[in-house]
Amino acid sequence: AKIKEVEFVKSSARAKDCPKHDRPEFAILGRSNVGKSSLINALVRKKDVALTSKKPGKTKLINHFLVNKSWYFVDLPGYGFAKAPEAARMDWSAFTKGFFLNRDTLVAVLLLVDASVPPQKIDLDCANWLGRNNIPMTFVFTKCDKMKAGKGKRPDENLRDFQQFIRENYREQPPWIMTSSVTGFGRDELLLHMSQLRNY
Ligand code: GDP
Repeated sequence: AKIKEVEFVKSSARAKDCPKHDRPEFAILGRSNVGKSSLINALVRKKDVALTSKKPGKTKLINHFLVNKSWYFVDLPGYGFAKAPEAARMDWSAFTKGFFLNRDTLVAVLLLVDASVPPQKIDLDCANWLGRNNIPMTFVFTKCDKMKAGKGKRPDENLRDFQQFIRENYREQPPWIMTSSVTGFGRDELLLHMSQLRNY
């Protein structure tokens, strides 16, 4: 399950510009600031592998990374910028829709969810959209080290609330993994999970 080698392949502005469908792919998706870049960097144990722009809403590119010359990590633009007008969100959904609905090599979407905040409507909407379109997903909870959140609920309580929603809305509960990019918690479990999915 180890990541030995990561190679940046290309950034695509449109789904149809993506590399040809020749390898298994995992798409990584989540709200802006959810900890996506940190997680990718922790998984590959390198700094600044994730090339996503840090300017919310500015860059909307699909970034393909080839791992161990055998499968792709696909870094998709973040969603749910606090200040983005509704139009920008719609734009995101048309863009990613194009990707999700046309990649037969997509093994699963890793949907990142910030465990340090209560369930966010936009994450739940995204999970619903993926579910409705029969796109396999794994919930990856980020920032699980933040157990002493000053105010509000703790990550385990947030997770419980989130999972409650999922139970109410799905016949089958998608797999979920708790992670922290600060402590490295969940890293090996996530890598193992992905390698198991690839072998099915
Ligand atoms: P992105 O916008 O989704 O790529 O998010 P980043 O990876 O840039 O992270 C957003 C913020 O959350 C940064 O301030 C990170 O330091 C912080 N962060 C990311 N992952 C973790 C984590 O596992 N634990 C904690 N405590 N903070 C994190």
